[in-house]
Amino acid sequence: MKVPFVDLRGQYLRLKPELDAAFQDIFERTAFISGKYVAAFEKAFAEAQKVKYFAGMSSGTDAVHLMLWACGVKAGDEVIVPVNTFIATAEGISLCGATPVFVDNDPDTYTIDVHQIEGKITTKTVAILPVHLYGQPADMDPILDLASRHGLAVFEDACQAHLAAYKGRAVGLFGRATAFSFFPGKNLGAYGEAGGLATNDDELYQKIYRMRGHGSVERYVHEIIGHNYRMEEIQAAVLLTKLRYLEEWTARRKAIASLYDELLKGVDGIVLPRRLPGADHVYHLYVIRVEGGRRDELQNYLKSQEIDTGLHYPIPIHLQKAYAAFGHGKGSFPVAERQASALLSLPLYPEMERDKVEYVCERIRSYFHG
Ligand SMILES: *Cc1c(COP(=O)(O)O)cnc(C)c1O
Repeated sequence: MKVPFVDLRGQYLRLKPELDAAFQDIFERTAFISGKYVAAFEKAFAEAQKVKYFAGMSSGTDAVHLMLWACGVKAGDEVIVPVNTFIATAEGISLCGATPVFVDNDPDTYTIDVHQIEGKITTKTVAILPVHLYGQPADMDPILDLASRHGLAVFEDACQAHLAAYKGRAVGLFGRATAFSFFPGKNLGAYGEAGGLATNDDELYQKIYRMRGHGSVERYVHEIIGHNYRMEEIQAAVLLTKLRYLEEWTARRKAIASLYDELLKGVDGIVLPRRLPGADHVYHLYVIRVEGGRRDELQNYLKSQEIDTGLHYPIPIHLQKAYAAFGHGKGSFPVAERQASALLSLPLYPEMERDKVEYVCERIRSYFHG
């Protein structure tokens, strides 16, 4: 049985009539950027995410950059960030001229290890930027407590965590601003690049709204320096259509994760994803930990059984050439390094049928137990 890692084509075929009608409308009206679909999606996503404001943008990476830039993060500043994340989180800090200060992984949840944050705070630290990784919120209470004791701002990277919540509050309600990505493979995905910023702060929203479109509200009148970080109408139309299914899809993701939990229980040699107490995990990824140095071998075995898996992420950011100048050698972040060679993401998408989940689990069980 062939099991893809995600199935975007299957989802498109189901939504085709709705999507094609919206595309036709956009092509006929030839209004391609920041029009009625963007406005409608911004309003609908803010409601779904329970935040006051949401500004659609060109990507999650641009959103991370703009939230820091708009809040004045600049050269000489330090921003604390987990070392286990997609590189865009760190890039957003670097693009402001500031320095990302990395923190190792929590051994169980793989998000930022909150016990190691305080030791990284210096006189230059201006903010903490936790990432709600794999769909699981970071442990926000200790982060908010540290931030308030040290006078630091908090920002959230929720690019993998649409509709996730921590102790009953939606992600996006904890930081000054929160970045979302709508990269095609994310829980809510566009048909190209897209992202955006959530905030509850009126003044900050006004600033973000201007900065993402060359600092302008009225055409050719520029109040501040910004960038071209606007969302396209086609992407907004896709997102608006898909948003109607997001709750249902999220419930399916959780149900598939529970089924994995149940069917993989007791398999020697793997550790199942640990849920942080109080965290409403939306399972962008279902990530198992393979013990005994057998991750790559298991991945290859599953590939031979026509099962696609993923690595998130195979090289921690501090060991990337892009950040080599920081001088963090091997051994600087031992937990992240160990986990980078042990974590394996299993196939998970809302349309995934029960027999596919059963097949994946049966193959994993037979790999370890024969
Ligand atoms: C996807 C992602 C981003 C970047 O989003 P893009 O839309 O691909 O630019 C940033 N941070 C995290 C954690 C992500 O997963």
